Amino acid sequence: MLSYQHAYHAGNLADLHKHAVLAWILGYLTRKDKPLSYIETHAGRGLYDLAGAEAQRTGEAAKGILARSGWFGPDHPYTRARQAVSARYGPMAYPGSPLIAQSLLRDTDSLHLAELHPGEHAALREAMGAGKTKIYQSDGLALAQSLCPPSPRRGLLLVDPSYEVKSDYDTIPGALNRIQAKWNVGIVMLWYPLLEADSHTSMLAKLPRDKGVVHEVAFAPVRPGHRMIGSGLYVANAPWGLEKELARLSTCFETL
Ligand code: SAM
Repeated sequence: MLSYQHAYHAGNLADLHKHAVLAWILGYLTRKDKPLSYIETHAGRGLYDLAGAEAQRTGEAAKGILARSGWFGPDHPYTRARQAVSARYGPMAYPGSPLIAQSLLRDTDSLHLAELHPGEHAALREAMGAGKTKIYQSDGLALAQSLCPPSPRRGLLLVDPSYEVKSDYDTIPGALNRIQAKWNVGIVMLWYPLLEADSHTSMLAKLPRDKGVVHEVAFAPVRPGHRMIGSGLYVANAPWGLEKELARLSTCFETL
């Protein structure tokens, strides 16, 4: 039974980290006039209301994107995606990763999104609207395995689990290694939380470091007793120039 709901956490510092890097990579990939595939294994509901009851209850967005939008200039793809969503849904609307992708991609690109939770899946369908995005209510890693190598072959896979199933830390490396064996040119981006318990270390040790960049940022727990003390990304086949953006983001997070 899945109980995690991203609406409580949308726009927090971990989302900001993940979404900024996602948008940067998509901005980079769309500079070339060649179609691409975007696949997401854990899509969430796509659209969030930062003035809604869930966001107000945790206050995570207030300490996240609502306080830090100055980290991103007007030309940053994250700003462009947020502005496109604000123009359509209002100033407190926040795009999840599927809407960030939809805002930045072109008609020639392919989007495949998996979301298992029935309510989140229905909301995702509504947020993405009619169009050629393919939305699946199935296990995301199994779906990615079946789609890879995708057509077009160029592209990005985002893996963003909630880690509410603790075995995720054990199963993800094998799944990603199998996907990369089938799709060796694909960019694969995995998000993980930095927890006091250090749960991610054994997972990272099973992923090939020669192909992947690791970027971690630290921040204070959003409230006393909250276990997340930072955000991590593993990016395989990282595009040229990403290191510079990661260094810039590190500098931003160091100011917290
Ligand atoms: N990627 C989203 C974003 O950044 O806007 C947030 C996704 S949230 C962290 C994780 C989502 O994965 C939840 O909505 C949850 O219902 C969904 N989920 C959990 N297990 C799944 C699975 N095996 N396959 C697909 N979706 C799953």
